[in-house]
Amino acid sequence: MEALLHFTIALAASLGVGIEPEVALVLSTIALLPDIDVFFGVHRMYTHSALLMIILGTPIVIILHFLGLGRVGLMALTLALSHPIIDSFGGYTFLLWPVYRRPMRFDFSLKLIGRSPLKISSESSGRTKGEIQNPDHLEGPLVTGRGVIISIVILFPFIIEILVI
Ligand SMILES: [Zn+2]
Repeated sequence: MEALLHFTIALAASLGVGIEPEVALVLSTIALLPDIDVFFGVHRMYTHSALLMIILGTPIVIILHFLGLGRVGLMALTLALSHPIIDSFGGYTFLLWPVYRRPMRFDFSLKLIGRSPLKISSESSGRTKGEIQNPDHLEGPLVTGRGVIISIVILFPFIIEILVI
């Protein structure tokens, strides 16, 4: 998914639980961090491991809890986790790396006519590792027109609330 929507969803979630707008803006950038792998010519690989995020993030959340920042820490971990989970619905993602070393993909569609499956697949005949590392196959643009419209709609209630108060 595009970077703008990762950010917008994180921002709306942060604002929705009552985090101050200034803090929410900073906190929401955490949802963008997994895409740092794009600078290394890959996408949805090790920085997209939800399992690794939980393993590394939980001790940090516990430390922040004892510093009185547990709520912010838990929110940051949740926002970070939102990225690979959302990405795994759009393409193969190394969600459980290093325990499960194959990229996973979830497909769900609710159809008016026909079967509406929830399909979980790991890569076998999908993208190969070579394709994942080939920049021509990198997915996830920064911003699209559709993403801008969706972001405006998602954030509209919060924008109105901030402007009115
Ligand atoms: Zn990503």
